[in-house]
Amino acid sequence: MNICEEAKGAAAIGIGGHVRPDGDCVGSAMGLYLYLKKACPESRVQVFLEKPAEIFSCIAGLDEIHADFATDVEAFDLFIALDTSKERLGGAEKYFDEAKKTVNIDHHISNKGSGDVNYIMPKASSTSELIYNVIEDKALIDEEIAKALYIGMMHDTGVFQYSNTSPDTLKTAAELISYGFDFSRLIDETFYEKTYVQNQILGRALLESLLFMDGRCVVSMVDKKTMDFYRAVPADLDGIVNQLRNTRGVECAIFMYQTNVLEYKVSLRSNGKVDVAKVAEFFGGGGHMRAAGVTMPGTFHDIVNNLSGRIAEQLREKE
Ligand code: 5GP
Ligand code: MN
Repeated sequence: MNICEEAKGAAAIGIGGHVRPDGDCVGSAMGLYLYLKKACPESRVQVFLEKPAEIFSCIAGLDEIHADFATDVEAFDLFIALDTSKERLGGAEKYFDEAKKTVNIDHHISNKGSGDVNYIMPKASSTSELIYNVIEDKALIDEEIAKALYIGMMHDTGVFQYSNTSPDTLKTAAELISYGFDFSRLIDETFYEKTYVQNQILGRALLESLLFMDGRCVVSMVDKKTMDFYRAVPADLDGIVNQLRNTRGVECAIFMYQTNVLEYKVSLRSNGKVDVAKVAEFFGGGGHMRAAGVTMPGTFHDIVNNLSGRIAEQLREKE
């Protein structure tokens, strides 16, 4: 795909990403936004995302995001959904539905393609890597665009460590760091550094974690009361499930936080044997083989029971 071809003649272009935007979602949306503003100067380009976490404030153009999902555009000539299918666009879904033409760019295996034109590459590390691919005129890339895309790639690959990191991922990252931003500082400040409160909740979640299925699964949970006590927001819980997965002998890690009286947001991580995208999809969520998520109704115990049934089934098939 050449995104400039798709954007040809579009007077108003909208860009949206998924609810609770992560590094790849913010990086890909802002990288594409900054690029389209340069590549299509006659078009009005607007980006719709929930307010990104504070750690992403180093990305250029963040204050131009329509975080309230308001616009004076009646119908976009082109709307581009990134890092998700249209169902998780939140307040931007209506703009996608009403747009004259839609493009969907994503790397989630669970996304069957919800645009008129789709570029869904489940093998790609990140949507940010795909944005680099759809930019044909590489000469227009500048330090700010490169930085945004690099942040997205770095977050979705766990600093180029997870198995979604390919030779192409590293070649793209190599091109991007040639623009000269301080990548080492970016990795520290956006990926590893935690606030005191974030570390406290992490410690608590690890302390209260439970091993089950003969030590092949680990689960932990943070309830609403605890979130309120620490004044924590969902983004403060990023990374907990990855730490749980780093437990010797564990095939599958589950972390959940309470979103309502009988509702939890669940994160799943696998060490390879269990396809957690399949588990999440079964309950209406989605993601990748080794990292997926879903919102589920019920008590903590109901949810663990339901998930472990699907996980055990996969382990039985493979052992
Ligand atoms: P996380 O556990 O970090 O929230 O998400 C892991 C992966 O699963 C991400 O790629 C994310 O986009 C995807 N994911 C998380 N929650 C959901 C969900 O409720 N629905 C779908 N379709 N994907 C999700
Ligand atoms: Mn992603």
